[in-house]
Amino acid sequence: MDTKQKKISSFLVVGGGISGLLIARSLADAGFSVRVLDKGRGFGGRLATRRAMPARFDHGAQYFTVRDARFQSWVDQWLKAGVIREWFDRFEGTSTDAEGHPRYVGVHGMSDIAKWLAVGVDVRRATKALALSRRRGVWTVHTDTEWDYQAETLILTTPVPQALDLLDSSGEDYGNGYSERLRAVHYEKGLALMGRLDGPSGLPGFGGIKIDDSAQLSWLADNAMKGISEVPAITLLSTADFAEAHWDNEDSVRGQLLAEAAGPYLKARIREFSCHRWGFTKPVVTFGAPYFCNQALGLLMAGDGFGGPRVEGAALSAIETIQYLFEAICTPHWGFHG
Ligand SMILES: Cc1cc2nc3c(=O)[nH]c(=O)nc-3n(C[C@H](O)[C@H](O)[C@H](O)COP(=O)(O)OP(=O)(O)OC[C@H]3O[C@@H](n4cnc5c(N)ncnc54)[C@H](O)[C@@H]3O)c2cc1C
Repeated sequence: MDTKQKKISSFLVVGGGISGLLIARSLADAGFSVRVLDKGRGFGGRLATRRAMPARFDHGAQYFTVRDARFQSWVDQWLKAGVIREWFDRFEGTSTDAEGHPRYVGVHGMSDIAKWLAVGVDVRRATKALALSRRRGVWTVHTDTEWDYQAETLILTTPVPQALDLLDSSGEDYGNGYSERLRAVHYEKGLALMGRLDGPSGLPGFGGIKIDDSAQLSWLADNAMKGISEVPAITLLSTADFAEAHWDNEDSVRGQLLAEAAGPYLKARIREFSCHRWGFTKPVVTFGAPYFCNQALGLLMAGDGFGGPRVEGAALSAIETIQYLFEAICTPHWGFHG
């Protein structure tokens, strides 16, 4: 028998990346009772910043861009609040980027955006959803803590395969005719190396290089030149193929290979490093609509698997989900109780 204590809210969001936090913040600002559960110890999911060695690294998303006016209005708030700043506006020597457009970063790291969004929102960190169940119109999220959480409306914003694993545990027939499309969503893997340098990196320009012709590396960035680390500290991102090939390898092996590949770009040596495995970097097949909804079950799914790769894709998925929710709340048959 389940003896865990239960906490109840109107809306429960599983996943505290940008999509989950944008949804939760919008609901909280509108006066609804909402709670976010995230398995991570920090905020932001793939908006990830880590302090180590002692340096500061962005080891997930490196920057973000804005094309859509709806996302721009959030970005304007972050600029005004001093949460983000422009890092650079073009990759030198790229004809496709000749005009340039702003690439934004968190002032102290990409997770600043998540921290700002989480203000005023009940976010339960270090809380992993293990399984779901639904009885009498109420979802229960069973977690690895002493608490289980309940809500009439469940919003899953984890990468889609993780969301489907959770939904499968519920025994509910949730697919609404879209099961195949949901199961088709898949993502690339990636490895991030965070390395403390023994001196300035010597990277040109703004301190980041996009690499298109390496089997190992796709990106390197100097976190000191980016303005988030007080000491020289490099982030190396692998290619998806390299991550697949070295997924279960020792850090000492795969890290060394990445460090060697970065050698020709650097004027300093990597003195110590650690690696992070990303099971989901960006979706290579998306759902094809900005969110998924099963109204009868009070279930929504959002995130970059719906809105498209990149921070902006995840944010737009959230923005569309919120719009849908606010419209649905006004219709009597959905059954929301704010
Ligand atoms: C290495 C890397 C580099 C990238 N570079 C860029 C870039 O430069 N520019 C750009 O625009 N985008 C970039 N991206 C992509 C961008 O980070 C993502 O598209 C975006 O952040 C996804 O947001 P999300 O809210 O959809 O998902 P996520 O940020 O993944 O949020 C999902 C959350 O769900 C949580 N979760 C998962 N399972 C559970 C569970 N069982 N219980 C509780 N919580 C759970 C996770 O902890 C996570 O916090 C990069 C991604 C990576 C990994």
